[in-house]
Amino acid sequence: MVEFLDVLKADNVLQEKVRELSNVDVLLSTATKEVKGDGKKVVAIIVTDRKSGQEKEIALDGVFVQIGLSANTKLVEELVPTNERGEIIIDASCRTQTPGIYAAGDCTTVPYKQIVIAMGEGAKAALSAFEDRIRS
Ligand SMILES: Cc1cc2nc3c(=O)[nH]c(=O)nc-3n(C[C@H](O)[C@H](O)[C@H](O)COP(=O)(O)OP(=O)(O)OC[C@H]3O[C@@H](n4cnc5c(N)ncnc54)[C@H](O)[C@@H]3O)c2cc1C
Repeated sequence: MVEFLDVLKADNVLQEKVRELSNVDVLLSTATKEVKGDGKKVVAIIVTDRKSGQEKEIALDGVFVQIGLSANTKLVEELVPTNERGEIIIDASCRTQTPGIYAAGDCTTVPYKQIVIAMGEGAKAALSAFEDRIRS
């Protein structure tokens, strides 16, 4: 497991689990530079130790990429302000900074990207829209 940062950020319980596995090595402060193939399949990756700058090749049979997600908000980028990560900026009631446009879930600045949060935020956005409509 290759981690760019010098710490793992997963839940402790998951970190402990992975460290118990005898067939998993955790490489911290390591940048993946290249995935190498033989024309048919993946055979190795080249990584750089970010502290020493030293490069090494690791032979392997496959790669699973898990490097986070970016907000899919291009569609609305000219309609509502977003932050540096492309998340739609909302207030506590799911109102964007553009009157009449509401946003909810992972594409917004709401902390904790989880299903239960996204569902609650969806309900909140709908209630805010309803309230604004009734009042105006
Ligand atoms: C690998 C992984 C594991 C996860 N595990 C958990 C977990 O165990 N528990 C948990 O609570 N959460 C988990 N999550 C997070 C959870 O999936 C999200 O928090 C949740 O799905 C967010 O809901 P959402 O409705 O905001 O966005 P999404 O579920 O991403 O829904 C957005 C929808 O919009 C659609 N869409 C995008 N662009 C357009 C467009 N232009 N026009 C029309 N439709 C469009 C997409 O196709 C998608 O269906 C996990 C996420 C990932 C990636």
